[in-house]
Amino acid sequence: MLTERSRELWFELNPEERQIIGAVREYLKDRVEPGAAERDRTGTFPHEIVRELGQLGVMGAQVPEQYGGAGLSTRVFARIVEEIGAVDGSLGLTVASHNSLCIGHLLLAANEQQKQAYLPKLASGEALGAWGLTEPGSGSDAAGMRTRAEETADGWVLNGTKQFITQGSVAGVYVINARTDPAPEGKKHLGISAFVFPAGTPGLKIGRKEEKLGLTSSDTAQLVFEDLKLPKDALVGERGKGFYDVLRVLDGGRIGIAALSVGLGRAALEFAAKYALEREQFGKPIAEFQGVSFKLAEMATALEAARLLYLKAAELKDAGKPFTMEAAQAKLFASEVAVKACDEAIQILGGYGYIKEYPVERYWRDARLMRIGEGTSEILKIVISRNLLARFR
Ligand SMILES: Cc1cc2nc3c(=O)[nH]c(=O)nc-3n(C[C@H](O)[C@H](O)[C@H](O)COP(=O)(O)OP(=O)(O)OC[C@H]3O[C@@H](n4cnc5c(N)ncnc54)[C@H](O)[C@@H]3O)c2cc1C
Repeated sequence: MLTERSRELWFELNPEERQIIGAVREYLKDRVEPGAAERDRTGTFPHEIVRELGQLGVMGAQVPEQYGGAGLSTRVFARIVEEIGAVDGSLGLTVASHNSLCIGHLLLAANEQQKQAYLPKLASGEALGAWGLTEPGSGSDAAGMRTRAEETADGWVLNGTKQFITQGSVAGVYVINARTDPAPEGKKHLGISAFVFPAGTPGLKIGRKEEKLGLTSSDTAQLVFEDLKLPKDALVGERGKGFYDVLRVLDGGRIGIAALSVGLGRAALEFAAKYALEREQFGKPIAEFQGVSFKLAEMATALEAARLLYLKAAELKDAGKPFTMEAAQAKLFASEVAVKACDEAIQILGGYGYIKEYPVERYWRDARLMRIGEGTSEILKIVISRNLLARFR
């Protein structure tokens, strides 16, 4: 017998979800879309919009209601990120990393006291969350980190540098991964632990703010820890086992990046389709040339497939089932097809695609990060092939 849930089309929004997405869409159209190009040009961080998104429930999308969040499923959160990505990629990255990485780590591993201390202000948008894993010398090989947390009589002392941290200079709450214990031979994923602390903690220095190809109105900065002193209860999760949490946090984060990619690709597709219907060459709209319309067909098909992949990964996560491989597949595929779609949109616009008056060059610059952040395409292929081959061993 069919259940209520399975009678609906699982990949479509149900009425309640439609209402949530509709409200977000309306807000984005009124408040975010109009200034997105200008913020991109000036690299202005949208503090006010973040606070408003907090009021809408977006900054604590998956935080349980008892901590002031909206308690939404991963699937709805991902749809929201897709919507944001379709109007402002920078804001999409801000929202995705705040929710999936910083909040995601706290939801996964923080104790009750830590949740009560940090989640309400993160969920309301009063404080933004940053999550530090990458360092100048360790990106893909994240377990090779050099940041150290030494235990003292009354807490911890952190020293080291984190690189490319989203919200690095604007965050109110930091979750930072550091080595607390020497790694046993050949097991450098052991001995890593996470710490949470507020902005303004003495010893936290905001380093260089990065100038980027795209996503220019998101904040990316280096963080330097110089004898940063933390109390004992700043430790998040089990000492020395933090890297297992890191991997799970990244699994969740990849669903958000996949959704953001689809949003960016969709924006490019929609703009290019409308343009192709209006632009005339050789006496007719360029959409009537198969050389153009087939590009649109391929973009639409690939983006739809990418959406189904991220929804599948989200559905598995919400059901409490393993989703590492599916999240990696979703992020790999979605980021690659989004960059391709943005590139094709530029092609369809011809010379107009290359100039800043039209938004497709911004979509392409923004989408390009998706193949790099939270696991490069190459690293994701390692994750996928490992999981795949394990089935045949
Ligand atoms: C805008 C932006 C925002 C970011 N936000 C955050 C954040 O909030 N928090 C955070 O911790 N980090 C963040 N990052 C860092 C990001 O996750 C890393 O840049 C990414 O993981 C890649 O690391 P890397 O840059 O050191 O490249 P590297 O690891 O040095 O990789 C360089 C190249 O080598 C390839 N490569 C490496 N190892 C292998 C291998 N085994 N097999 C095949 N190819 C390989 C890579 O795929 C890549 O093509 C951000 C980065 C950017 C640019």
